[in-house]
Amino acid sequence: MKKAIIFLGPPGAGKGTQATMVSQSIGVPYISTGDILRSAVKEGSSLGKKANEYMSKGELVPDEVVIGIIDERLNRGDCKNGCILDGFPRTIVQAVSLENMLKEKGLEPVVLFIDVPDEEVVRRNSKRRICDRCGRIYHLETNPPPKDGKCECGGFLYQRNDDREDVIRERLRVYREKTSPLIDYYTKKNSLFKVNGSGSVEEVHSRVISALKKIDKA
Ligand code: AMP
Repeated sequence: MKKAIIFLGPPGAGKGTQATMVSQSIGVPYISTGDILRSAVKEGSSLGKKANEYMSKGELVPDEVVIGIIDERLNRGDCKNGCILDGFPRTIVQAVSLENMLKEKGLEPVVLFIDVPDEEVVRRNSKRRICDRCGRIYHLETNPPPKDGKCECGGFLYQRNDDREDVIRERLRVYREKTSPLIDYYTKKNSLFKVNGSGSVEEVHSRVISALKKIDKA
C-alpha cells in the first residue's frame, strides 16, 4: 500500500531537514503545516492573522484549522502516490482525522519518530537558521551555512520568531502534553519506527534510510 510518511518528534529534532531529504529522494510531496502557516502569516491573510496569535506564543493552532489545511493539501493530485508529512498530526484528534482522510485516498500512515533528548531541544532550536529565499534549514553548529553567513543560494538567513528560548520552552511543554501521546497511539498500531535523532544530519539520515527500508518490508 502507498504510504504517508509522518515525521514525528520534538521541535528541533531535525524533522524538516530529514523529511525534505526523503521527499526529494523518493519523489513524493513534502507537506509541512508549519511552513504553510508561516506563509499565511507572511501574506497577512485572515488565516495567517489567526494562526499567528497561537504560533507567536508557541501554542498549537486549533485542530479544525490545521485539519482543514491538510485536507485541502491532500486533495491535490500530487499526493496520490504518497506524501511526507512534517508537523502533522500533533494531537490525537488530528491523527484520527488524518486516518480517515488517508483511507479515502488509499494511503497508509507510517510514523518515523525522531527521538532527541529534551536537553538538546532548546540548544538546537536556538541555533537554527532558515534561508529566506529557498527555505533551506541550517544549524550554526551541526549543519553550518557557508562562511559568508548566507545560504548556498545567496539568500539571507533568519531565525524563526518562535525559536526564542522562552517560546521554545513553551513549545516543548506543549509537545509533551499534546503531541507525545501520539508515540503510544502509533506504537499500538504497529506503525511507529523510532530513529535516534542525535548526531550530524548525515548520521541521522542514514538511520532514517534504514528505518525506511524496514517500513518497506513491513
Ligand atoms: P513547526 O514548523 O512544525 O515547528 O510549526 C510551527 C508552529 O505552527 C507550531 O508551534 C504551531 O503553533 C503551528 N503548527 C504547525 N503544525 C501544527 C499542527 N499540526 N497543529 C497545530 N499547530 C501547528
